[in-house]
Amino acid sequence: MDFLRPTTWDEALAAKADQPDAVPIQGGTDVMVELNFDVRRPPALLDLGQVAELREWSTAGGMCRVGAGVPYTAVIEELGATLPGLAQAARTVGSPQIRNRGSVGGNLGAASPAGDSHPPLLAAGAVVEVESRGRGVRMIPAAEFYLGVKRSALEPDELIRAVHVPPATGPQYFSKVGTRNAMVIAVCSFALALHPRERRVGTGLGSAAPTPRRAIEAERLLAAELDWDAPLDPALLRRFGDLCARAAAPIDDVRGTAAYRVHAIGVMARRTLTWAWNDHLGKRAA
Ligand SMILES: Cc1cc2nc3c(=O)[nH]c(=O)nc-3n(C[C@H](O)[C@H](O)[C@H](O)COP(=O)(O)OP(=O)(O)OC[C@H]3O[C@@H](n4cnc5c(N)ncnc54)[C@H](O)[C@@H]3O)c2cc1C
Repeated sequence: MDFLRPTTWDEALAAKADQPDAVPIQGGTDVMVELNFDVRRPPALLDLGQVAELREWSTAGGMCRVGAGVPYTAVIEELGATLPGLAQAARTVGSPQIRNRGSVGGNLGAASPAGDSHPPLLAAGAVVEVESRGRGVRMIPAAEFYLGVKRSALEPDELIRAVHVPPATGPQYFSKVGTRNAMVIAVCSFALALHPRERRVGTGLGSAAPTPRRAIEAERLLAAELDWDAPLDPALLRRFGDLCARAAAPIDDVRGTAAYRVHAIGVMARRTLTWAWNDHLGKRAA
């Protein structure tokens, strides 16, 4: 197996163009497990660990651009105020060791329906920046990035460079059901982001369908009926939870049944909207 070690982004793109079947490796917390278990044996690994710019983030131009190699620990320690939903999700990933090495870009690259970054990226309206040497940069909205179980819109000659996430303008929450509190893949998860300036609520479902997805009908309901100056109407809250549950299309597997997942999505949707709404009204009263 070849081990390619670019030190710049241009070298990385060139290596991927020359050898599209080279598997990128960032933190390695997914890739190394696959190699160890012989899930795949690629002809080459493309180590992105030396490409320094992938580990940087910035907030220039009103958008938070998070390099694909930024580890969860940095998201938690440095971006908690700017991207609270993503930071909450990051806190639930694996263990401290996994959070030190594992990255948001790696989560996107793996495109697992259970990846914890995806629901908050969907709820916030994130856009994934990918690039190839031949065709340049493509900006892919998170909602269009996930195509199937562990399948994404990334082409074989492309690499993920960064994810662009609008800084929070309102409360954001992430909720995850697991069989224990740490080191657990989500049975299912849910993220919610209030966008008060647009009078809009974003959602993201995890581990509840072949891909991470938004609950679009539920978002439409709130866009049409939510009174942003009043306490939450319990009937509206219930309908929101029901529509989020209906957006799920889960399977039975070792972690949980489809029926349980549908139920849990409804519960998490109601809970996170209640938490976010309390923050929203509390902030206005202060
Ligand atoms: C013990 C353990 C616990 C875990 N717990 C969780 C958890 O709670 N929640 C969760 O979501 N995940 C969990 N994971 C999975 C893993 O940690 C995450 O998916 C993590 O985000 C992967 O990031 P990485 O940088 O290590 O990716 P890598 O393993 O380096 O790569 C992952 C995938 O992305 C591709 N890739 C990486 N970088 C790029 C790039 N720049 N462009 C294109 N493709 C790229 C790789 O080729 C690979 O397919 C766990 C893993 C372990 C081993």
